[in-house]
Amino acid sequence: MSRSAHPAGPRHADVYTEGHYSAPADDLNSLDEKVWSRTVDRNADGVVTVGGIEVTQLAEEFGTPAYFLDEADFRARCRAWADAFGPDADVFYAGKAFLSRAVVKWLQEEGLNLDVCSGGELATALAAGMPAERIAFHGNNKSADEIERAVEAGVGRIVLDSFQEIVRVAHIAQSRGVRQRVQIRVTVGVEAHTHEFIATAHEDQKFGIALAEGQAAEAVRRALKLDGLELIGIHSHIGSQIFDMAGFEVSARRVVQLLAEVRDEHGVELPEIDLGGGLGIAYTSEDDPREPQEIAKALGEIVTRECEAAGLATPRISVEPGRAIVGPTAFTLYQVGTVKPLEGLRTYVSVDGGMSDNIRTALYDAEYSVALVSRTSTAEPMLSRVVGKHCESGDIVVKDAFLPADLAPGDLLAVPATGAYCRAMASNYNHALRPPVVAVRDGEARVIVRRETEEDLLRLDVG
Ligand SMILES: *Cc1c(COP(=O)(O)O)cnc(C)c1O
Repeated sequence: MSRSAHPAGPRHADVYTEGHYSAPADDLNSLDEKVWSRTVDRNADGVVTVGGIEVTQLAEEFGTPAYFLDEADFRARCRAWADAFGPDADVFYAGKAFLSRAVVKWLQEEGLNLDVCSGGELATALAAGMPAERIAFHGNNKSADEIERAVEAGVGRIVLDSFQEIVRVAHIAQSRGVRQRVQIRVTVGVEAHTHEFIATAHEDQKFGIALAEGQAAEAVRRALKLDGLELIGIHSHIGSQIFDMAGFEVSARRVVQLLAEVRDEHGVELPEIDLGGGLGIAYTSEDDPREPQEIAKALGEIVTRECEAAGLATPRISVEPGRAIVGPTAFTLYQVGTVKPLEGLRTYVSVDGGMSDNIRTALYDAEYSVALVSRTSTAEPMLSRVVGKHCESGDIVVKDAFLPADLAPGDLLAVPATGAYCRAMASNYNHALRPPVVAVRDGEARVIVRRETEEDLLRLDVG
């Protein structure tokens, strides 16, 4: 997808020829279960509910904008991944998608492990009581302080991302008299079919050590020599929002080849491989995500087949879904402030949030769905663009959508599939107050991350 497909203001003639939108749904009041979380429904009064609670009541109690997270759906997705991969594999939830203490507790209760990639994420995981041995520490530039904290906490694995880091982690571990379990992250030369900014396994990017030209084999050589390290496996993460299993297949094959080379050279069979995260979810009705069962089966078969061919015992597999677990479980609730029809173009619908609570549209050209949720409407579909309240014409939440033509200030809109990389990437642009995350389950709603206040903002401003 090209960045130029995301103009700040479209030329008149582009609008009907280049739009990404599809035809309006037959019934704008219907909710496609593909993009809405499990317990979302529309009741007899026409009001959308989640966990049995009406969005109008949620808006009154918690304000807008706000993220509402369907806890039952989150837990069900955790279980689906854990069940699909079974006892001989490990599922690590990628905390960067969305992390809070409540989420860490749910993960523990549902038997998942946790990936972190900063001191802040590690602190959150430990504060919520995640056992350190169930934590994996990632990142391409972990500070010495972060490595020390991870080693001291006793994290289950540190994923090494560079030659310098191999030495750094070994030194810190050795000076504390421990052998740190580590994996080496490799880049397998696969470019996942996704936006170039979030594809991470082709070679011209910052993550990992290339398999090409023996770089990764050299990293293994060095790691095996160092007393402070226990090398347990190889790690590969090929990108994000991927629907096609072909990239994972190539990645698994190349990682297994490296395991065979390591066995031939060192007589060591590394016991684990991690194939990363990146599985896509449905943001619109056009997206067709894979089920965890299907993914587990495909990956298991590829690894088993390749290992048999190489004469290796099948290693323990781990995966790291972030978006695929939390993404579909939340929606953002906004209130409409202004409705501005532009004759012959489209209608701009301004909501009370924007790029500060969802940067993905501006950053990745991401597509989203949106629905009127506080009532039903029988009005004609109206080509709309849902925009925020920030001082930026690129402040777009949903680029192209059909909304009912009688939309008016005060109506509530919900944007589904905002559980991943929305609150996690939220900013204070224009001194916006970052919205709360409210967990909803069985008729009860509770704040798990509270709304920021102006005092929060001013507390940091010490001038
Ligand atoms: C971001 C990331 C993930 C999770 O990616 P999703 O697209 O959210 O599944 C997993 N592993 C690593 C190393 C990552 O950087």
